[in-house]
Amino acid sequence: MTKIDIKSMNLSELISFMEGLGEKAFRAKQIYQWIHEKQVDSFEEMSNVSKKLRETLEEQTYLTALKIEEVQISKVDGTRKYLFLLEDGNVIESVLMRYKHGNSVCISSQVGCRMGCRFCASTLDGLVRGLTAGEMLDQIYQIGKDIGERISNVVVMGTGEPLDNYDNLLKFIELLTDENGINISQRNLTVSTCGIVPKMRELADKQLAITLALSLHASNQEKRLSLMPVANKYDIHEVIDACKYYFDKTGRRITFEYSLVGGVNDTDEDAAQLTKLIKGINCHVNLIPVNPIKERDYVQSNAGVIEAFKNKLEKNCINVTIRREMGRDIDGACGQLRKRYRERTTKE
Ligand code: SAH
Repeated sequence: MTKIDIKSMNLSELISFMEGLGEKAFRAKQIYQWIHEKQVDSFEEMSNVSKKLRETLEEQTYLTALKIEEVQISKVDGTRKYLFLLEDGNVIESVLMRYKHGNSVCISSQVGCRMGCRFCASTLDGLVRGLTAGEMLDQIYQIGKDIGERISNVVVMGTGEPLDNYDNLLKFIELLTDENGINISQRNLTVSTCGIVPKMRELADKQLAITLALSLHASNQEKRLSLMPVANKYDIHEVIDACKYYFDKTGRRITFEYSLVGGVNDTDEDAAQLTKLIKGINCHVNLIPVNPIKERDYVQSNAGVIEAFKNKLEKNCINVTIRREMGRDIDGACGQLRKRYRERTTKE
């Protein structure tokens, strides 16, 4: 018998499941609270649930509980990078960032990634699998418990393409924002995509209050294609149209992420083209100095070039910020902690 993933169930699913076991609905509510509010890691800890029922749950279901394999703590700003071990032996990365306005967690949505972006370490070994809703949630639960503080913001910007794991992502959003659980507001959640157009439109139709971030990284189709193979499938203009559609449906301002790669997408002409491309869209541009990975020869634009690029956009009345680099001392681009861990463990 395959066991049921109890952490990925919403309350009504859990109620039907418990009723199937001949239990009352209030039992489901108690168990849901143990999982999502008290965030226990085992059935054993559910002290107001009978031993017999706990045994039945143990037999028929499993409770996802990620194990902290490694933590790197920045001495500069308190950023923490976590490497979590999943039940099947895979590892994933998550990051805690501390801001004045609260704690923000950046989670992974997949083990590996199949999008192939040229500058990204997470995609070098391809996709292993999508994460379950429970595995996405548990990154936040475990980090909250580790630091003993509330997590107020979540960004789905770690390893993986969230819209390539769409159904689990939606379930995750439902559970994350449920008032009977960790109860994080939709407004405090950002989902970042490389631009899977049909899924962006589907998400827009849900009319959620979450922020959509698009990894744009180029101002025209040709350059975008040289950095992001996904552009083969969806032309830059189709992606921009999907962003407009998202705003029309949700009223949520779009975030455009633009990683500046030295000599590739950081010229005056790029800034001018970018302005033309996104002018009139209610948006915010996040400039990210590219984080070089050793497997590729991309370099960061120098500080002056980055500043000039920002000024040019500002002159054109585009809302823009340069992303503050968090945890510089523990850095390495996204996906590198996992990659190094795998290199280490497969050599042994
Ligand atoms: N697949 C999603 C989310 C994960 S990547 C997406 O593409 O948006 C999160 C962000 O980090 C994306 O904007 C991605 O392009 C960017 N990124 C990945 N590797 C990077 C690197 N080495 N330097 C700078 N940004 C990088």
